[in-house]
Amino acid sequence: MIAEKWLSLNNHIINIHTKQGRVFEKCAHGRLPAAQNRKKKWLKADSVPALKLKKVVSQIAFVRDVKKMSPSQQTYGVEVYHSIVNQFAPKMYAYLYTGMYCRLILAALHYNENSGRKHAKTSTGQLQYTVKFPKAKKGGHVVRRVNTAATYEYVTELLTETLRLCENNVDEEAFDVPDPLSSRWEKPDKREAVVLFRSRFNH
Ligand SMILES: [Zn+2]
Repeated sequence: MIAEKWLSLNNHIINIHTKQGRVFEKCAHGRLPAAQNRKKKWLKADSVPALKLKKVVSQIAFVRDVKKMSPSQQTYGVEVYHSIVNQFAPKMYAYLYTGMYCRLILAALHYNENSGRKHAKTSTGQLQYTVKFPKAKKGGHVVRRVNTAATYEYVTELLTETLRLCENNVDEEAFDVPDPLSSRWEKPDKREAVVLFRSRFNH
């Protein structure tokens, strides 16, 4: 389905929207404005631009990749989550296991509370947008929607829980810190390793 849907692009751009494939039979969009009311022209079948685009769209390796894409959830959310992790645990610092563990949990709490924020409106009810100039665009701009401000309810909840634990004299829960990953590695005999190193690189 997903491959046929992707390949239907080759037809869509030349104004063919039906009889697409075996399972994806016709374009998912609704009625399109009549040709005379369209600002954007369709490509002509078998024209050089249409053929060039078709060559890109239909590449076997590319179509194989398209099949592996998630049909509903793309990577944007995951990328946003990882950038939040970077805020709570910047990569330039090293943290102990417990520190890192807690920071990941905080990042998850913040993400869960704020990932579905609404489009912000001005006091007069207009949807808010901002214009940015990302370096990659080399002077070009992108328009981004402005979301409502982030909230930090989870902080209040954590403070309340901390107070509750203190008031009830609850000992902190035992926390299993695993051994560092490197502890599982086999350590070579140093003298043997050096002999091997010299025999390999001395000649
Ligand atoms: Zn179409």
